[in-house]
Amino acid sequence: MGQVLDCRALAKEFLEKIKEESTKLKEQGINPQLAIVRVGNREDDIAYEKGILKNCEKADIIGKVHTCFPDIDMEDFIDTIQKLNNDSSVHGIIIFRPLPKHLDEDIIKHIIDPNKDVDCMNPLNLAKVFEGDLDGYLPCTPAAVMEIIKHFNIEVKGKKVVVLGRSMVVGKPLAMMMLKEDATVTICHSKTENLKEVVSDADIVAAAIGKPKFIGKDFIKDNAVVIDVGINVDDNGKLCGDVDFETVKDKTSLITPVPGGVGSMTTALLLKNVIKGAKMAL
Ligand code: NAP
Repeated sequence: MGQVLDCRALAKEFLEKIKEESTKLKEQGINPQLAIVRVGNREDDIAYEKGILKNCEKADIIGKVHTCFPDIDMEDFIDTIQKLNNDSSVHGIIIFRPLPKHLDEDIIKHIIDPNKDVDCMNPLNLAKVFEGDLDGYLPCTPAAVMEIIKHFNIEVKGKKVVVLGRSMVVGKPLAMMMLKEDATVTICHSKTENLKEVVSDADIVAAAIGKPKFIGKDFIKDNAVVIDVGINVDDNGKLCGDVDFETVKDKTSLITPVPGGVGSMTTALLLKNVIKGAKMAL
């Protein structure tokens, strides 16, 4: 069986380092603060928010929730974001997505101050990632995947990497970050032909499609590395990834589980970005 990469311990280690940085900043008069903007009361938003606040506490970062009514109009929503942009005590802003349809994300993503854009929503920050400049804010989930790759010494250079999914939140930036590490990258999506064939040629598979247990053992080459980004609920109401873990694990050399894999690292990467924002303020 492949080694199961439990990322919880790594996340704990990460949060401890972030806490040390936060303490240093406090000594210099900066109290790192994350503003969480939530519209309405969606269950998944509230669950994500709870996880962020718990980790804020562990990392000694202030996490403040700004809740908006579900019917807030564009003008008031933009005003909320601009107030946070102008508030010098706020170092990072995350706006939970997807937003309700009447709030135009294509406009809002340009409003958020690029220096506080810890969730990498503003195209200015994403453009840097696409240019291969990884010194700015990195989108948290792809950054979490790359930290896992680094921590477990997974060789990426020259390897065939298949990224499943082409969203701007995960798939596309992850593909760019793999490319930066000299991987040979293929991006697959819902229109990819012969998907099984393409994926089963990969040395490393990163799945981010949002389809529970979709990737079975037929998709995976012997001894491939499998990174499962998906967070789904299966027919029994249990959390699961995009990969059918039980059938796939024996074919892999390394595999991340769900839960306990990429998801456990994502919030730590968000808070790392808040520290970056606080350092900018300094
Ligand atoms: P998304 O915006 O819905 O994008 C899904 C992507 O998967 C799209 O590019 C889509 O292709 C592709 N796709 C869908 N069905 C497919 C199929 N049958 N074969 C091949 N490609 C297919 O989702 P997302 O926001 O990127 O999230 C993806 C997954 O990651 C979800 O399970 C989400 O919950 C999870 N996630 C996890 C974290 C974490 O912290 N671990 C963070 C964010 C998201 P088209 O472009 O052609 O439609």
